[in-house]
Amino acid sequence: MKPLVDPFGRAVTYLRVSVTDRCDLRCIYCMRERMRFLPRDELLTLEELERLCTAFVGRGVRRLRFTGGEPLVRKGFLELVRSMRRHLGAGLDEITLTTNGVQLADFAQDLFEAGIRRVNVSVDSLDRETFARIARRDRLPQVLAGIDAAVAAGLKVKINTVALKHDNAHEIPDLVKWAHARGHDITLIETMPLGEIDEDRTDQFLSLARVHEDMRSYWTLHDLPDRTGGPARYVRVEETGGRLGFITPLTHNFCEGCSRVRLTCTGRLYLCLGHETSVDLRAPLRASQDDALLQDAIEAAIALRPKGHDFHIERLSQPATTRHMSVTGG
Ligand code: SAM
Ligand code: SF4
Repeated sequence: MKPLVDPFGRAVTYLRVSVTDRCDLRCIYCMRERMRFLPRDELLTLEELERLCTAFVGRGVRRLRFTGGEPLVRKGFLELVRSMRRHLGAGLDEITLTTNGVQLADFAQDLFEAGIRRVNVSVDSLDRETFARIARRDRLPQVLAGIDAAVAAGLKVKINTVALKHDNAHEIPDLVKWAHARGHDITLIETMPLGEIDEDRTDQFLSLARVHEDMRSYWTLHDLPDRTGGPARYVRVEETGGRLGFITPLTHNFCEGCSRVRLTCTGRLYLCLGHETSVDLRAPLRASQDDALLQDAIEAAIALRPKGHDFHIERLSQPATTRHMSVTGG
């Protein structure tokens, strides 16, 4: 079947799937303490998620990342990974996972056996109190144990850290040193205005251009050409030998090379993280066991792909989109 190419000539080869909007943490930049989650009957079943992912692999998607919410809180999640494993080497290059790590110790070995080789684990602080303040849950020991278990199981771990002006800015160099000393890449993420939260986003926003500039006063940073089809830019830190990424959707435009689309747990396809344009795939999926309708809907969706995102730094206090990152998947 024809590969998926959008109106701007960009091939869609990367699918992120949010398997649940639920989570066992409540990070201050991501969610409210009291979140109203989707009713369970609105969720796609694991079989439906598998059918959708398979349809995308049939159209040229080579990389699949499961995310959430927290993917490890979705019952039967491992079954979904196991069922997608058959595509590895037959269209699909890799299946990856983004997790908060809280339950990783229990899952690491099974994830490896299910075909996953790389996981991204979010760690916003190595200080237990700060972690508990940011995540609104005291779970740092579990996360660190999860990372150890992942490494022991043979998974390559990358660390994600959201940069927050008041909570962890001072800790960022230590987080980078810690990650690199353990052999993990680390990526810093600027807060993005997605969904209503309890706090003021302008107050939390920390420009990574600024962090990058500060780092150059004490580290030697070498730009790397690596691109992942997404918004990260990478440097090698000479002093630590490790790779450091910057995801700066607000200070850089990363859209021109973007190869990814995002599927929510209700079957809505978002064509861009920072744009409201989306198409429902659940109705065509459920309308028939034959994939013809679904394929038409996917093609029509890709034709709507916007050129770029709608984030603007001056509008940071207002969410650019009403949906939370936990719905679209980070
Ligand atoms: N629960 C998993 C986790 O935390 O890794 C996976 C889902 S989470 C939505 C994916 C990534 O998005 C995490 O690294 C998280 O820190 C980041 N994130 C969540 N909300 C964000 C926001 N408003 N701006 C920037 N990054 C955000
Ligand atoms: Fe949960 Fe991840 Fe959002 Fe934190 S960032 S609340 S761990 S979904």
